[in-house]
Amino acid sequence: MKVHILRCGEIRVSGTVLFGNAINAANSLRQLADPDGKRVTLPVFCFLIEHPHGLLLVDTGWCREISPAGVYDPAAVRRVLPGHLAAFFRPTLPSGEAIDEQLSARGIRPEDLDCVILTHLDPDHVAGLRQLRGAKRIVLPEDEYFWSCRTVYKLRQPQELWIGAPIERIYYRAAADAPNRWAIDLFGDGSAMLVNVPGHTDGQAAVLLRDQGRFVLLAADAAFSPRNWEEEITPGFGFDRGQQRKSLRWIAAKAAEPGCAAVLCSHDPALRPQTVEL
Ligand SMILES: [Zn+2]
Repeated sequence: MKVHILRCGEIRVSGTVLFGNAINAANSLRQLADPDGKRVTLPVFCFLIEHPHGLLLVDTGWCREISPAGVYDPAAVRRVLPGHLAAFFRPTLPSGEAIDEQLSARGIRPEDLDCVILTHLDPDHVAGLRQLRGAKRIVLPEDEYFWSCRTVYKLRQPQELWIGAPIERIYYRAAADAPNRWAIDLFGDGSAMLVNVPGHTDGQAAVLLRDQGRFVLLAADAAFSPRNWEEEITPGFGFDRGQQRKSLRWIAAKAAEPGCAAVLCSHDPALRPQTVEL
């Protein structure tokens, strides 16, 4: 199994997003209002997996429309995102980094993708979906879809980015190795588990990929950096700090297992595009 780490644009967000250690009004205000000098640039990663069951893609990054010339374009951002999310993310998608551009450079068409896995519905994870029409499957945990009706998620997850896509909603079931004992065994053999890691959103999935006794864990936005689980500093952006902590403790335990090849976060500033092989 090979896990290719693809950089699909970036965001320029308040430092409280990574290490805010609380979800509260002060952090939320800073995330919207911090001037550029108090912000950090974080990558947006997607993961292309050469898996025994086919070609998988985890998340989709930004769409080209948000950054038509490959530079930060506030007017273009506001055409894709509502004002408060434009202020929060300040996204850029350099030329060649859109997911369809990267797949095309590797000779891969959307219809060659056997399964696109959406970890959750925040726009930095689903905006590129519009460029992947034709993928054989697009899957999302039902819990994430269901809770998108809640006001807090309506504010975070603009429906027009994903509501029209042919998304297959799949269901968490009882599982021993998961923070809340909920996971989805995508192929029925344990080789690709979507593990519910709540806190950032209710329904968010981490993706646990196993092959020959080793595994890679894609932590999605349950953590933004290894420091989150190593020092148990919760990210300052999310929904439920208690659940964030529970998810971080589970990730810390996985990272300490001997079979762990890597734990990869969707926005780790220290991570570089590369291929992890199992
Ligand atoms: Zn994200």
